[in-house]
Amino acid sequence: MSPRNDESRYATDAARWAALQAREAAADGAFWVAVKTTRIYCRPSCKSRQPLRKNVEFHNRAADAVAAGFRACKRCKPDQWRAGTAP
Ligand SMILES: [Zn+2]
Repeated sequence: MSPRNDESRYATDAARWAALQAREAAADGAFWVAVKTTRIYCRPSCKSRQPLRKNVEFHNRAADAVAAGFRACKRCKPDQWRAGTAP
């Protein structure tokens, strides 16, 4: 059994941080990674350099990150992400 984009798999910050460090593509869409120092938000599988834990906050929806003042990463384009699209 391997549920894809099952949000319950990424219900805690610890699970989300682990998925970010592993750049788990399966986590894309389940949550979003916002970096407070750059004011950018990313998909968990973004290939950009990984931020420090203290600079990261997680959002359940991309719209939430936008509402909090973050802009979409130009590299992983979280605002254009759709389930099933290639990274
Ligand atoms: Zn990114």
